[in-house]
Amino acid sequence: MAEPLLYDSLSRSLQPLTASDGETFRFYCCGPTVYGPAHIGNFRTFVIQDLLRRVVEASGLKTKHVRNITDVDDKTIRQSQTEGKSLQAFTEYWAERFHADCEALNLLEPHVEPSAVDHIEIQVRLIQRLIDKGNAYVAEDGSVYFRVTSFADYGKLSRLHEREITTAPAGTLQSDDEYDRESAADFALWKAHKEEDGPNAWPSPWGKGRPGWHLECSAMSMEYLGESFDLHSGGVDLLFPHHENEIAQSEAATGKPFSRLWFHSTHLLVEGHKMSKSLGNLFTLQDVKDRGFSPMALRYVLIAGQYRQPLNFTWDSLNAARSALRRLQQLHQSLSAAADDTSSPSPSSDWGPFQPVYDALANNLNTPDALGKLFTAAHQIERDLQASQVTREAAADLLAAYDRVLTVFGFTFDTEAAPAAAPAEVEALAAARWQAKQARDFARADALRNQLTELGWSVRDAKDGYELTPAN
Ligand SMILES: [Zn+2]
Repeated sequence: MAEPLLYDSLSRSLQPLTASDGETFRFYCCGPTVYGPAHIGNFRTFVIQDLLRRVVEASGLKTKHVRNITDVDDKTIRQSQTEGKSLQAFTEYWAERFHADCEALNLLEPHVEPSAVDHIEIQVRLIQRLIDKGNAYVAEDGSVYFRVTSFADYGKLSRLHEREITTAPAGTLQSDDEYDRESAADFALWKAHKEEDGPNAWPSPWGKGRPGWHLECSAMSMEYLGESFDLHSGGVDLLFPHHENEIAQSEAATGKPFSRLWFHSTHLLVEGHKMSKSLGNLFTLQDVKDRGFSPMALRYVLIAGQYRQPLNFTWDSLNAARSALRRLQQLHQSLSAAADDTSSPSPSSDWGPFQPVYDALANNLNTPDALGKLFTAAHQIERDLQASQVTREAAADLLAAYDRVLTVFGFTFDTEAAPAAAPAEVEALAAARWQAKQARDFARADALRNQLTELGWSVRDAKDGYELTPAN
């Protein structure tokens, strides 16, 4: 099977996804900062990373997937104090919420999920290594900075031209907490403790403080994947300075190439606008569920756009995703019915008629193309099934191939099959309406339908019952 290709932000070219050790594809994803709910823009990145992993695994490689939890930084400290909670209790709460959302979106769990607070020691050791090599220096207040001019390759990922890096003496800058820097481009590896940090400080050879945010990803990725590994990933907003700084810290310390490939997904727009607090469009998975859509419909929407193109999220696109998933589910039911329990699929890992679907995914995760081909194949199979041209054995093989394809997309139907949870009152009205209809009391049924409409729910009759959906 040909290796999947992916656009690498470092070389700016398509590169084959291979394992440098010939066996396991080792990759790192910058994880969430746990100080509030992740929004759907964050989840675009996590869903696309999940798809990447599934495609690599479908290509026959094993994976080792590491994704961190940022549980100490300015935002987590500030917010925990505003809420009067310990940093640990505060970040644990949001980490749990993040995990619940990931599960609902059917994201595969990373093999290792290290947290910054649990890895202070290896971060301190990495800083010491950089100081010893002359790539970092201790400022008067006990903060430690990376000396950007000491790393000749600085800017190779973002193609930052020398003129864009301001090497002006940092004293001329207004930033109050970083006045000790030699140069404005230098960034903090260790932040000396300040009063507003409260009890959140750890010991180090330079006095108590906490690691700088960029550092944790270098330290933890190398800890679990080795000093050189296959791929590093995050949203495009992390490319500079975060990923540039990670490269500098890691390669300066080890003298080896850090990540071989770099994978960035582009922004999510909401109804044509950038996501922002001021626009009030930082929607979360809960917002999606509150409007009656399943997490799987959101997964579908987030996958449906090619990851290098901005994706415009609309509430309408969730409606379309819901219909698309229903159709995929129907095909699954038809194939399951056509292949009875006694027919087991031939032991092959063939994609069958879904080969073009996999090929499109393996071509730089071209998801729009892949979904188009999925529906083309589905249409053909439906026609063959209707014409009774599919034997039980063939249906079993098709079902097995179809299951493999659904696994690569990460689509499941369980949540989609269940109607969106309606309040008890709404359920009761809908049940009463159904009974009225069965009793041919259509006037009462209509009156109950009107009540449901007023409550924001629409009811649709199905073969053996009814379906409640929130009216959008
Ligand atoms: Zn990171």
